[in-house]
Amino acid sequence: MKCYLRAGWVALVLGLAGCYTVPETGRKSFILPVDDVAQGSAAFADLKSKEKISNDPVDNERVRRVGTRIAQAVGDALPGAQWEFVVFDAPDTVNAFALPGGKVGVYTGLLRLAQTDDELAIVMGHEIGHVTARHGAERISEAMLAAGGGLLIDATTRDSRNHDLFLAGYGLFAGGGMLKFSRLHESEADHIGVRYAAKAGYDPGAAITFWQKMEKESKGSHVPAFLSTHPTHERRIADLQGWMPEVMPLYESAKVRYR
Ligand SMILES: [Zn+2]
Repeated sequence: MKCYLRAGWVALVLGLAGCYTVPETGRKSFILPVDDVAQGSAAFADLKSKEKISNDPVDNERVRRVGTRIAQAVGDALPGAQWEFVVFDAPDTVNAFALPGGKVGVYTGLLRLAQTDDELAIVMGHEIGHVTARHGAERISEAMLAAGGGLLIDATTRDSRNHDLFLAGYGLFAGGGMLKFSRLHESEADHIGVRYAAKAGYDPGAAITFWQKMEKESKGSHVPAFLSTHPTHERRIADLQGWMPEVMPLYESAKVRYR
């Protein structure tokens, strides 16, 4: 298996690298010792100081309410998480993101489109899924291996020079835009996200109606960045439909707790 071969190679260099088991899907990934919790917290503090934060009590309460329930569904899959949910005031930005350490940002543009808590839970679950799966650390590890290990020592330090590399790993870059995750990571985040939403007592069926709505939306002249960086709606909706028999029972047993 690719993961073990690579782990062996890098073990010669660091003696620390290893395999990671992705929560909810059980996929094995290869991850170098990147301190993503420390990096994520530092990057989030940086973003908060640069972007406009919303003080709207309704929006903030909504994001906290949904986020707290998703965090409970994540459980101990995110060791060392200090959850923080921030609403960024950007009505034209249809986006949300999550960083290691449990740092979650939602833009007001997304809140207008994700009209119900069920829909918001789908999007937040997806973003948090990227984090618990450690997709950013996996991407950084891949990039470092591709560079022949020359960046290894550099990237395992907490130096602020690594912030850009780190943000790119998590799909964000310094200008605040989004980079594309691989198709595997997107699909896996969809799968994990819909499981988290269901375990948090939110209707996973909202994923299908939400993406159908987004599909209509994107047929207009203006395609939000959030949509263009994600897989085709057709593919995504078909996958989500395939996961419904698996996630509906999770929803049925969880919703009793949140009634
Ligand atoms: Zn994504």
